[in-house]
Amino acid sequence: MRILIAEDDLTSRTILSAVVKKWGYVPVAVTDGEAAWEAMQKEDAPQLALLDWNMPGLNGLEVCGKLREIDTADPPYIIFLTSRSEKDSVVEGLEAGANDYVIKPHDNAELLARVRVGQRMLEMQAAMNAAKKSLTHEAMHDPLTRILNRRAILDFLQKELSRAMRHGSLLSIGMIDLDYFKRVNDRYGHQTGDDVLCGLVRTIQENLRDYDLVGRYGGEEFLVVAPCSSGGEDDELYERLRAGIAGQGIATRSGVVSITVSIGVVGTTGSRSMDDLLADADSALYRAKKSGRNCVVHAEKV
Ligand code: GH3
Ligand code: MG
Ligand code: MG
Ligand code: MG
Repeated sequence: MRILIAEDDLTSRTILSAVVKKWGYVPVAVTDGEAAWEAMQKEDAPQLALLDWNMPGLNGLEVCGKLREIDTADPPYIIFLTSRSEKDSVVEGLEAGANDYVIKPHDNAELLARVRVGQRMLEMQAAMNAAKKSLTHEAMHDPLTRILNRRAILDFLQKELSRAMRHGSLLSIGMIDLDYFKRVNDRYGHQTGDDVLCGLVRTIQENLRDYDLVGRYGGEEFLVVAPCSSGGEDDELYERLRAGIAGQGIATRSGVVSITVSIGVVGTTGSRSMDDLLADADSALYRAKKSGRNCVVHAEKV
């Protein structure tokens, strides 16, 4: 772990750097408040800071205040290491956002114990951030296919609709439903059915462009949200998807399974509500099913 040592006194700085190094940490020594602030802004900034109070330029209190203004899930652990021993200063330092306050001259064993407390707090903070990240990911993704779940793809669609509205650009929504999927489950079992769903998602993703997204809308229904610049572009996209899926079987634990999909498509410039568009895509999909499946039907063309 890197530890910032902000100390204007050469002797104290040199000794402290040597001690911190002996404890197994990497000292990053600076001589004034400005340099401390800069060092803490860097990509590989130290996570823990030992801050002197009286320094030229910005003093330690100001550095601490500025660091606490930063909106981050990963704030540094700040320990004042200062000769200001009055109770008022201790209170002021802690009120400014410091985690701890050590009065000079200090005892090295005590300082190390306090640095270790800081390290434990930072480790807990990192673990909590990682847990939060993983929960956020879980809340947005389908556990089987690992693509966006219904809520997340609808959130994305809502954002893309607002964007299309602002820029007057086009957006298409494709509702994809597996044809006769119940028969796959009945014939090969549910696990093979799951393999088919995962394989289908891979084929869809291979045929999408970087800025298109697919999410699992329901059991065997998927929603594609595709920003596009012209009407013809989305004709091509959904036909490519349909043909790609029909043309290649999906490898499963029961061997290769051939499937087809029906797709209902609706295009918009963002001026219609999400519910209306989804209803139109759904009725286009229904017509695709009615007209024999394995086809693409556009809502505006029905
Ligand atoms: P259609 O062409 O009219 O869409 O026929 P279908 O059989 O695909 O449609 P239906 O709605 O009758 O059946 C959908 C099936 O999808 C039934 C359900 O068991 C299956 N299904 C939904 N979610 C999953 C899943 O996560 N895994 C598996 N294996 N099957 C699923
Ligand atoms: Mg000083
Ligand atoms: Mg269905
Ligand atoms: Mg189906």
